[in-house]
Amino acid sequence: MQPRLRFAPSPTGPLHIGGVRTALYNFLLAKNLNGKFIIRVEDTDQSRYVEGAEEYILQSMAWLGIEADEDPNKGGLLGPYRQSERKEIYHKYALELVAQGWAYYAFDSSEDLTNYREQAEKEGERFLYGPLNRKGLNNSLSLSESETQSQIENGKDFVIRFKIPENKEILFHDEVRGEITVNTNTLDDKVLYKSDGMPTYHLANVVDDHLMKITHVVRGEEWLPSLALHTLLYQAFQWTPPLFAHLPLLLKPTGKGKLSKRDGEAGGFPVFPLSWNESVGYKEAGYEPEALLNFLGLLGWNPGDDTEEMTLEEMVRKFSLSRVQKSGARFDLEKLNWFNAQTLQNLNNTEIVARYKKRNNIYDAVPESVLVAGVSLVKERLIKVDDLNDHQYLFNQPESYEERAVKKQWKAETPQLLQAFLEDLMSVPKSSPAVKKAIHDFCEKHEIGMGKIMAPLRIALVGSLQGPSVDELINFLGVDVVKQRIDIACEKL
Ligand code: GLU
Repeated sequence: MQPRLRFAPSPTGPLHIGGVRTALYNFLLAKNLNGKFIIRVEDTDQSRYVEGAEEYILQSMAWLGIEADEDPNKGGLLGPYRQSERKEIYHKYALELVAQGWAYYAFDSSEDLTNYREQAEKEGERFLYGPLNRKGLNNSLSLSESETQSQIENGKDFVIRFKIPENKEILFHDEVRGEITVNTNTLDDKVLYKSDGMPTYHLANVVDDHLMKITHVVRGEEWLPSLALHTLLYQAFQWTPPLFAHLPLLLKPTGKGKLSKRDGEAGGFPVFPLSWNESVGYKEAGYEPEALLNFLGLLGWNPGDDTEEMTLEEMVRKFSLSRVQKSGARFDLEKLNWFNAQTLQNLNNTEIVARYKKRNNIYDAVPESVLVAGVSLVKERLIKVDDLNDHQYLFNQPESYEERAVKKQWKAETPQLLQAFLEDLMSVPKSSPAVKKAIHDFCEKHEIGMGKIMAPLRIALVGSLQGPSVDELINFLGVDVVKQRIDIACEKL
């Protein structure tokens, strides 16, 4: 059987970073097993549908480079892949369960249900519509067949509920958590189908996983409580269930509690891949998709050795469910920044410039080859491509000079020294080591410490004491520009 895994987002809003990790793990496992990765949009809950969310989710996947073999736009042999386009399918299966005694009609009004809930709450309990009380409620188990029939014919609103077996231990297996048993009396008779002609998540999800031949269901921990019901649904339909794996929670940066949108706002980091309304996404914040994937890959899984830096292909090769952890994974922005910096280290300079230019235009007048050469001087310091904006001195005359640096390092004799150094520099071959040696020789000749010339050179060339090594900088700028900058500094300071 060919492995087939799906990511099944509901378009109820933007994709949370936890959802991105779920998609990634599904992709990694699917590809590791030489299988297919499918995106199925679960849009049956009309009340929670958000305009634009599906598009957003698919665009996020595209930006990240997580490519599906089958999805709503691409199609595929077992589609459609949007549940709202599969409405007719679910009705049939809901009726089948009713016919076989695995499900029943319920006519309780929402007011009645609210009353039951409130009543139970007053007594410090939780109302469960299930094996222990359903015979006393308004449904086809308590009504006669003809009463049920006439309710339906008279157009009374109904739902179809799953009939949880009474007092049974059900045993199921989760690839991450191992064996789990649940007593059915703790479960409720979940609604499977509503009279608006729409299935609920549980029915549509199980039916589609079966029809789409899904072999592994990998999803967030929040769905673990549904696994008992899903296991029973597979039994009721007499279908072989897929393997299940529930992924650990993503935790706040403090390690305490589930990561939420508000943590992002408070900690100044995105929680969505792309911007959504006023929330800035990772893309817009200047992160590289490779870095985000690498970072998320290790939030709940590890390859079993110390390897941290991995491309998507490497993660595919190494991925296995047996190394997915049970405990929550702490979100750590520093770590993400580190991955982003590493990603840039691994890109060639032309690619860095290309990515930079997609987002920034301040160096539009600088020739491409100069930009590319400039990148090699500061590459190691970049966390994001946008950080190139902090190195304008590579391409432009400094606009000002940092006061504190000048006060400390620019002495009365500085201009004279710099001019003398310039003269020596004229005859130095164009290479950083040669420049380095020239500085060294100059200091020896004049019997001065290196700082006496290095610091003022930096001030004249950069405008501050920051920047790459002076020899590399001089070599990059070339003698003419160096002379120009020294002359201007001597004039201004
Ligand atoms: N539509 C569900 C969600 O939004 C899918 C859960 C599952 O993968 O079964 O998370």
